[in-house]
Amino acid sequence: TATSSGAARRPTSALPDRPEERVKVFVRIRPTKAEGETGGAVRAKSGSKGLVIFREHANIPASEFEFDKVLGPSASQSDVYHAAVKPIVEDVLNGYNGTLMAYGQTGAGKTYSLSSIAADAIGMIPRAAAEVFSHIEQDGGHEYSVYMSYVQLYMELIQDLLRPESENLQIRENEGGVFVGGVHQQEVQNITQCLHLLSLGDRNRTTAFTALNAHSSRSHAVVMLTVIKRRSVSGTGEAEIQRVKVGKLFLVDLAGSERLKKSKSTGLRANEAKSINLSLTTLGMCINARADPNAAHVPFRDSKLTRLLQDSLGGNAKTSLLVAACDAAEHVDETLQSLQFGLRAMCVRTQAVVNERVDYKTLHAEMIAALENQDRKSSL
Ligand code: ADP
Ligand code: MG
Repeated sequence: TATSSGAARRPTSALPDRPEERVKVFVRIRPTKAEGETGGAVRAKSGSKGLVIFREHANIPASEFEFDKVLGPSASQSDVYHAAVKPIVEDVLNGYNGTLMAYGQTGAGKTYSLSSIAADAIGMIPRAAAEVFSHIEQDGGHEYSVYMSYVQLYMELIQDLLRPESENLQIRENEGGVFVGGVHQQEVQNITQCLHLLSLGDRNRTTAFTALNAHSSRSHAVVMLTVIKRRSVSGTGEAEIQRVKVGKLFLVDLAGSERLKKSKSTGLRANEAKSINLSLTTLGMCINARADPNAAHVPFRDSKLTRLLQDSLGGNAKTSLLVAACDAAEHVDETLQSLQFGLRAMCVRTQAVVNERVDYKTLHAEMIAALENQDRKSSL
């Protein structure tokens, strides 16, 4: 694969006295749509961290929450990007793993926030990609390669949205962490190529669901950007020694968090409903377990999504959760559930380290040095 070719594996270098971090949680309240919704049930408090839920009697607050930041209905895509995503992209450019997950019920604004390509409302994925390339352009001191993958998870099957014929990819693990085996990793040189792949993936996603007569809000979509950053430290040609940092950015549009009804109208069989929900249910269980200092077992292995996001949930990654909420009174119960999910996620500690290794050329050079050393010893 793109990231592991020709490179000597080294243990990741932990920065020694880095303070432990946790998952950062941001809530975005989408403006109420005109038709048949009563807005005002969720209101941001002044000071930008607090949020109040109003029930039935519009002036009596029912519950209050506090998050890393609450972005109200008038917040722009740029506001969301600067609060929740930009710091992660900057870390990815320095060799950290980073994750942005969007959680919330269908219609709450996950896909709008992540994937919108409307000129006046560009979403987090295109913004993150654009930032990566503008950084690369300005950094003359490093060589960069960027690879993009795009998959979806539906009913515990991983489908490659850039190569839709690959519809049952498996999660694998090596010293470098967890990855999707055999996934297409397309090298991208600029934002135009990224946007092209995004729209290709989105089209494939829609096609897949139309064929299944299902709705894509039931699937998880994951865009992965791998940034490889090289710096020559000495030598030239064969003897050149390079330090290589690898940052992986996951941008995850989670399936709708609303409970699935096994009613006749949805036409779902019980096992189907269970399978559709499995990854999201397991995500909740993993977050609960990770948030509880006494929990002995975290069930990462119980679903594909949680295996893939294992690092993002308390391993080697910096993670932001964007809870998408709508302020409609009709959806207050689902919104409360989403906010509670967000609160638990705030207790998940992460421990990100720079993924740095020394390229093959170094190993080569070190081997020669070691052999020469041995020669010298044996000739003594
Ligand atoms: P989800 O992906 O969570 O199911 P969508 O992102 O598709 O929800 O949003 C549902 C609808 O609401 C879409 O028509 C979208 O354009 C609109 N929408 C969502 N968030 C906002 C926002 N912050 N501002 C304006 N329109 C929004
Ligand atoms: Mg969506």
